[in-house]
Amino acid sequence: AKERRGNNYFVYSGESEPQKLKDITLETKLYDALRLEQLQLYYQPKIDIQTGKMVGMEALLRWIDSELGFIPPDRFIPFAEETGLIIPIGEWVLERACLDVKSWNDLFDLDLRVAVNLSPIQLALPNIIETIENTLRNTNVNPSFVEIEITEMSMVDFNESLVDKLAQIRAMGIAISIDDFGTGYSSLSYLKNLPVDALKVDRSFVMEIGLSETGSNMVGAIIRLAHAMNLEVVAEGVEREEELVYLRACGCELAQGYYFSKPLPANEFFKYVMNQ
Ligand code: C2E
Ligand code: CA
Ligand code: CA
Ligand code: CA
Repeated sequence: AKERRGNNYFVYSGESEPQKLKDITLETKLYDALRLEQLQLYYQPKIDIQTGKMVGMEALLRWIDSELGFIPPDRFIPFAEETGLIIPIGEWVLERACLDVKSWNDLFDLDLRVAVNLSPIQLALPNIIETIENTLRNTNVNPSFVEIEITEMSMVDFNESLVDKLAQIRAMGIAISIDDFGTGYSSLSYLKNLPVDALKVDRSFVMEIGLSETGSNMVGAIIRLAHAMNLEVVAEGVEREEELVYLRACGCELAQGYYFSKPLPANEFFKYVMNQ
C-alpha cells in the first residue's frame, strides 16, 4: 500500500514478493526505455483565448512499451519518482523540449514557449539550477522560450531554499507556473511569497463551469485571486465551448485542452504549427 510519510515522497510498505518483482521488471523496462530513446514527448498547444493565437505548448511524456503497451504518465511518473529514475528522465525531457522548441521557432520564425513539468524530486536536487543552466547552454535555446511547471506538491517542503531556487530559475529568463492549482497543499500565504509568473487552474475546476453556479463562481474567484497577485492564468483541460466562453469573460489569458487539440506527437505538432 502507498502511504505518505513526513516530507518523503511515496514509500511502499508491506509489499508482497510478486509486487516487488513486478516493480523490478518495470524499473528495468523504464530504464531501458530512457536509454534506448523509447520515451517520447507529446505537445499540447496553449492558446491565448483573447486573441485565439497559439503562444506555446506543454510537453507531456509518453511511454509506449512493445510488450506492456501504452503506460500512462499518471502511473509511471510516480514510480519514476519513487525509484529516482525521474532525475535522468526529467533531464532528458528538458533537453528534448528545448531542442524541439528551438527548431520550430527557428524554422517558422516564431516565439513559442514550451512548458516542461518539473517533478518535486527534481526541484529538491541541490544541483537543479546547474542542470537547467547546462541544458540552456547545450541546446542554445533562448530561455524566454522555456517555462517550468511545478505542482503544489513542490511546496510541501516550502522553505527559503525553494524560494531561492525559483528566483534563480526566473533570473535565467525562464517563466514558472504553478500547476494543478487548488488540488494540492499550498496555502495562500506561501503563494504570496513565491516568485512565479502564472497559475494553472486544474481541470477538475474547469469541468464544473456551467454545471453549477458554485462551479462557475469558483473558477471566477480563482482567476480574480491570480490576477490580484499579478499572475497570468492558464485554464487546463478545456473541452467545451461553454467553458471557453466563461473563461474568456473572466479575463483568463491562456487555455489548453481537447477543445483546441489533444497532445500531439512531435511530427504532428510540427504540422499543427505549420498550419497556424
Ligand atoms: P498535468 O501536468 O496536469 O497535465 C495535463 C494532463 O491533462 C495531461 O495528461 C493531458 O494530456 C491531459 N489533458 C489535456 N487536455 C485535456 C482535456 O481537455 N481533457 C482531459 N480529460 N485531459 C486533458 P497526461 O499527458 O496523461 O499527463 C498526466 C500527468 O503526468 C501530468 O499532469 C503531469 O503531472 C505528469 N507528467 C506528464 N509529463 C511529465 C513530465 O515530463 N515530467 C513530469 N514530472 N510529469 C509529467
Ligand atoms: Ca503540467
Ligand atoms: Ca496541470
Ligand atoms: Ca491537472
